[in-house]
Amino acid sequence: MNALDVIDLHKNLDGMLKLAVRANKFDVTCSKGCFACCKELAIASRPEIRFILSQLSGTAKAALSLKVEQWLAKFLSAGGMNSLTGTPERALEYLKFNLYCPLLNDQGCCSVYEHRPCECRLFCTAGDPKACADPALRPEQMFLVAPGIHREMMKYFVNCLGDGETTEFDHIGIILAEELLGGSYVTKCRLRLHRNGSTLEIQRCDVENDE
Ligand code: SF4
Ligand code: SF4
Repeated sequence: MNALDVIDLHKNLDGMLKLAVRANKFDVTCSKGCFACCKELAIASRPEIRFILSQLSGTAKAALSLKVEQWLAKFLSAGGMNSLTGTPERALEYLKFNLYCPLLNDQGCCSVYEHRPCECRLFCTAGDPKACADPALRPEQMFLVAPGIHREMMKYFVNCLGDGETTEFDHIGIILAEELLGGSYVTKCRLRLHRNGSTLEIQRCDVENDE
């Protein structure tokens, strides 16, 4: 999956989201500078993160590496590797860590907004933004539900997979850490897609990890 595929995927996803918002008469309350959702457990694919990094200058990349290093240290000391599960409840579990995405800037905006990963694009609410920030209200928040969008998104990833190629998905911070700092930090959220001829191999990593 190359940079053009990523751009195309994001463009298609934005189009599908617009239609879903219209079809649901969803009155979106998200706005610039509202960033509680940037401490949610957000998963990204490696090609998306590589694309983001390819757009950064050397100085920006060095500054981001420092932030990612700090994020990783907090994530590991909070027991993040074994706390994230492959279940839908994982998002609420992750919120307890109170860790903002390393790509969030000091002004409370996404530093890579135009190129943010699919999962960030899908995060959209019509409820009171306060309910995003408050873990007690969070389960009741009115998030946009667009049936079929995830399936379409995954289809795109699969279609872009060449023979012998692998695409991995994991927490944004984790993929950033692996790309910028090196090393391997496979969480239970990791998903691997591998094309072997006409066979698509899918590997989930929701098993115990050694820290
Ligand atoms: S999802 Fe919630 S926290 Fe994120 S921008 Fe929208 S209202 Fe704000
Ligand atoms: S990539 Fe941007 S939008 Fe997504 S969680 Fe990080 S800061 Fe927020």
